[in-house]
Amino acid sequence: MKCKGCGVEIQTFNDDVPGYIPADVLERRQKEGKEILCQRCFHLKHYGKFKKEKKGVKSLDSLKKYLHLAKNVIYVIDIFDFDGTYREEIVELLKEHNVYYVINKVDLVPKEVAPPEIKKWARDRLKVQSTRVKLLSAKVGRGVSGFVKFLKSKKDRRFLVVGVTNVGKSSVLNALTGEGQLTASKYPGTTLELVQLKNEDTGLTLIDTPGIFTNDRVTDLLDPWCQAKIMPQKKLTVTTINAKKDRTVFFSSFVSITVKGYKGRRSPIFHILTSENVVVHETNPEKAEERWSEWFGRFLVPPCGNSGFDNYKFENHQLRLEAGQEIHICGLGWVNVARGPAEFTLKLPESVKWVVRDALI
Ligand code: GDP
Repeated sequence: MKCKGCGVEIQTFNDDVPGYIPADVLERRQKEGKEILCQRCFHLKHYGKFKKEKKGVKSLDSLKKYLHLAKNVIYVIDIFDFDGTYREEIVELLKEHNVYYVINKVDLVPKEVAPPEIKKWARDRLKVQSTRVKLLSAKVGRGVSGFVKFLKSKKDRRFLVVGVTNVGKSSVLNALTGEGQLTASKYPGTTLELVQLKNEDTGLTLIDTPGIFTNDRVTDLLDPWCQAKIMPQKKLTVTTINAKKDRTVFFSSFVSITVKGYKGRRSPIFHILTSENVVVHETNPEKAEERWSEWFGRFLVPPCGNSGFDNYKFENHQLRLEAGQEIHICGLGWVNVARGPAEFTLKLPESVKWVVRDALI
């Protein structure tokens, strides 16, 4: 049964996971023939706001159950959403394990950035040895055979595969399965819902674990259809903006940047990298203020459909970035300062995680 609001499968066992509704409420509403909404959509519809969560990563407990199954871990990270998918909380949980980081979706990165640069950038951010970082594209098969070879070369060939939702964990497993002729089986002798992929010849075993949910990415504010729509499928779109003082740049309906100042006469240049279906639009602040509610979810996608900006609590941050820095808005994309310094106001929902970092490009 699906939620009438967001389309997610209804479940009654874990309120940390989307689609949750308490069992007694579900039973009552079914008996009364009432519309079935998950708790999140119910709150949104009747109280005009989402249930407030404090933690950025949820359902970590479900991962804990699997940790004893292998000493080695493959942690899948999405290069497009690096800071949304590389989470300190998960690393902390894995501190007794031997972790290899797979940086997936490298096919999305513009071709100006060579793989060694991506690798160096990722390594610097992860602060681990180069041998622990592997670049991959499960989609186009890049790096897959080399990675299978690497795994086979290890003495202990049992690996847990972990990652937050939508990093492409299933796609990575499929790619590795294809390459390594692994066969899928349920983990023997347990009731855990996990899939073990085993190759009898090489002794390589991959144990899939449940995708970990976050609640601080822009994608977490969207229904599944809209999430899929803005998920980048081909190389990221780069929008270049030379923003004069007091101009406002919308980056979807959720994020805006208003330029406050810069040094000398040369106004800052921003490169905004995102999926082709995310709208970037520059305007003046008066118009931005006046038209925002009208544009919300209609012209400025995402969201896809006007869910009303008053459902979100927005906050402003005053920032000063140098050229070579960028802001990563988790689940949405990057704002890269190509010419700076730039002083600006960043406005976005308070629940959304953002990070200032050294630019990848
Ligand atoms: P999971 O939730 O982590 O298991 O992720 P999925 O394997 O279901 O993938 C989530 C989305 O990412 C899907 O739309 C995939 O097509 C896409 N995806 C997965 N791997 C890649 C990749 O290497 N490159 C690109 N561009 N997209 C990918």
